[in-house]
Amino acid sequence: MSSFLSYVNPTADSPWGTYLAQVDRVIPYLGHLGRWVGMLKCPKRALIVDVPIELDNGTVAHFEGYRVQHSLTRGPGKGGVRFHPDVTLEEVMALAAWMSIKNAAVNLPFGGAKGGIRVDPKLLSRHELEKLTRRYTSEIGIIIGPQQDIPAPDVNTNAQIMAWMMDTYSMNVGATATGVVTGKPLHLGGSLGRIKATGRGVFVTGREAARRISLDLDDARVAVQGFGNVGSAAAELFAQAGAKIVAAQDHSGTICNANGFDLAELIPHVKATGGVAGFMGGEAMANEEFWDVPCEIMIPAALEGQLTADRARRLKARLVLEGANGPTTTGADDILTDRGVLVVPDVICNAGGVTVSYFEWVQDFSSFFWTEDEINVRLDKIMVGALKNIWETADRHKVSLRTATFAVACERILQARDARGLYP
Ligand code: NAD
Repeated sequence: MSSFLSYVNPTADSPWGTYLAQVDRVIPYLGHLGRWVGMLKCPKRALIVDVPIELDNGTVAHFEGYRVQHSLTRGPGKGGVRFHPDVTLEEVMALAAWMSIKNAAVNLPFGGAKGGIRVDPKLLSRHELEKLTRRYTSEIGIIIGPQQDIPAPDVNTNAQIMAWMMDTYSMNVGATATGVVTGKPLHLGGSLGRIKATGRGVFVTGREAARRISLDLDDARVAVQGFGNVGSAAAELFAQAGAKIVAAQDHSGTICNANGFDLAELIPHVKATGGVAGFMGGEAMANEEFWDVPCEIMIPAALEGQLTADRARRLKARLVLEGANGPTTTGADDILTDRGVLVVPDVICNAGGVTVSYFEWVQDFSSFFWTEDEINVRLDKIMVGALKNIWETADRHKVSLRTATFAVACERILQARDARGLYP
């Protein structure tokens, strides 16, 4: 198999190992396209860069950065950039691969890519963070571009970081290139609705899945892990639909309230203090007990590998909505299937963000911007249509929604590969 595998050491539950197992499961449904499956098991390109910056105290620090382009078969690379102390090449490879699957599952004209820097951005000043972002952008500048590969925000990166990336790339090419990144500030070619788009997509797919299993959202109890961009936006929409957010966990701790939090108070508390801990409208609970909370809907929206086999056995929810990328280990996935817990997988559940990123990219190219209503209506339509197709595929093959999403996406990618043929 691929030489890339010699750079990483995947295990059954590690991100790349999890992804490979997911691909293996769809091989029986690929028919003659199965001959191309190696294209999915090996990233097209992986760039590892040293990112040196001078810190405010005058010392020079080095950080390791990555940009992996898993597939460019259906269009330019597309995927976020993560700043986190645990970022590894293996993780970025898996995240890039899941972007290929996600973009194909929603039928966006993109391949899949992802980037990251192994850094704790909370330890850097704003000035240091800007230097880190600009140097990283310059280093990966040889493979990104509006037609090549378009980064976006992910964990610990935001619209400001996208603005610095866009400015750095533009300075290097000598022209303002708004289409090089998405998730930019509105006054720089950003799109209305982008910030909450991933959370909105989680809500839309959750609403549709709940309807199909006759789960009433009114008074449904929801637990959310990760109260950042994705988790808080999804929680807000579920609360607006009548559900109660009964537990929330983030890096700062875990809180619960059987009557549901008042989000009009919790969201400002998280903004002001940086986390859910210390919120007066709920009680603190031990982190591990979060997975035992009585609820109908569980939304893991933090990091990968959180829903382990042990936690899956204890989970009370009927519906799991994967806001995060890769939050469920393969072992946990099988246990949830056996227990009849419906999992809407990351590769469709959190595709709302990249869908509105696609809208942003299209708007930047045409220099014509849509209203927020137009964006939300188009997003809803795409997510509902994609989930319907996946649901029907799952029924047809009698497989989980995850395997069905992979089957739909892998077929699209490999059909494109089959038509393009192999160069030279
Ligand atoms: P974010 O940085 O805004 O929020 C991350 C949240 O996770 C924070 O609340 C943080 O406290 C929490 N967290 C971190 N470590 C934790 C831990 N050990 N235990 C519990 N909570 C922890 O990031 P985000 O953009 O909301 O991304 C969250 C997930 O959603 C990631 O897996 C990301 O890849 C995925 N995702 C994000 C987008 C997007 O548009 N932002 C799109 C698709 C998928």
